[in-house]
Amino acid sequence: MSENASTGTIAFLGLGHMGGPMAVNLIKAGHTVVGFDPVPAAVEAAKAHGVPMVDSAAEAASGAAVILTMLPSGKHVLDAYRGVDGESGLLSVAAPDTLFLDCSTINVDEAREAAAIAVEAGHRSVDAPVSGGVVGAEAGTLTFMVGALPEDFEAAKGILEHMGKRIVHCGDHGAGQAAKVCNNMILGVSMIAVSEAFVLGEKLGLTHQALFDVASNASGQCWALSTNCPVPGPVPTSPANRDYQPGFAGALMAKDLRLAVNALESTGVEGQMGHLASKIYDAFAAEGGAARDFSGIITDIRDKSGK
Ligand code: NAD
Repeated sequence: MSENASTGTIAFLGLGHMGGPMAVNLIKAGHTVVGFDPVPAAVEAAKAHGVPMVDSAAEAASGAAVILTMLPSGKHVLDAYRGVDGESGLLSVAAPDTLFLDCSTINVDEAREAAAIAVEAGHRSVDAPVSGGVVGAEAGTLTFMVGALPEDFEAAKGILEHMGKRIVHCGDHGAGQAAKVCNNMILGVSMIAVSEAFVLGEKLGLTHQALFDVASNASGQCWALSTNCPVPGPVPTSPANRDYQPGFAGALMAKDLRLAVNALESTGVEGQMGHLASKIYDAFAAEGGAARDFSGIITDIRDKSGK
């Protein structure tokens, strides 16, 4: 099966912002891809980029060696695997020993459940969430965090390396999602901290450049500061310089922090900063920040800080 996984047909389900360009890169690398998405606009966009599309998930899955999902949530993934409303799910339609490769960002518990039902149905399962956003998906430079048995990791790697530049085996089923949720909890918390520090600096009479020059070379250094700096100027490529056009949208940060809170709760970890960051980004997304870069949180902090 491992050889088939790298040379056989890939059923690609979910050709949205991320999945569309990822499927295109697989085709460019010589893979045979068959796509399915229930939304007509996604179907048209995929077809325009040369991705062959079919009318149902079952049609895409039949005869595929790999079923790759890039869906909005864990419920979408589990529903697609099991089937809903009397329709056959992917697990029952797929040929025995098919590689189920889920690249969506979902709860760790859901990823483990997806793997368990896939294995029980006689298939292989890999969770491989990504970081790098739409720009990385288009450029084929995504980072994949992978949870899989060692032999399945090797099979998945031959596919993932055509969509990304870093493929990290994090452990068994669910470990990819675990790594993603931990990383993004750091990111959300650190962006809030950096943004609060810049607003505090403004109040204390510091220029943005002075604070950046000190903190980016001192113990405050982090990605949120030195790459995605929330104020315009010090890092010309950061979204702050283009009125917070994403980048990484506030809605996605809010989603990932909700996944982090779920993981904190299910493991009993005393994660006060994670809980708080989740509340802050939920409010940001609900109050106009959903489609802005998550670094736009600084404008909320500034607005609420008075003159
Ligand atoms: P999106 O909403 O643009 O795309 C999801 C696609 O899945 C949609 O086109 C939708 O119609 C389709 N879909 C829903 N149910 C389906 C089904 N049963 N079968 C086939 N297709 C189905 O979302 P996106 O931005 O592409 O994100 C996809 C995943 O990647 C999410 O889990 C997201 O959290 C994660 N992610 C996104 C980014 C980003 O920058 N957009 C970055 C990292 C991770």
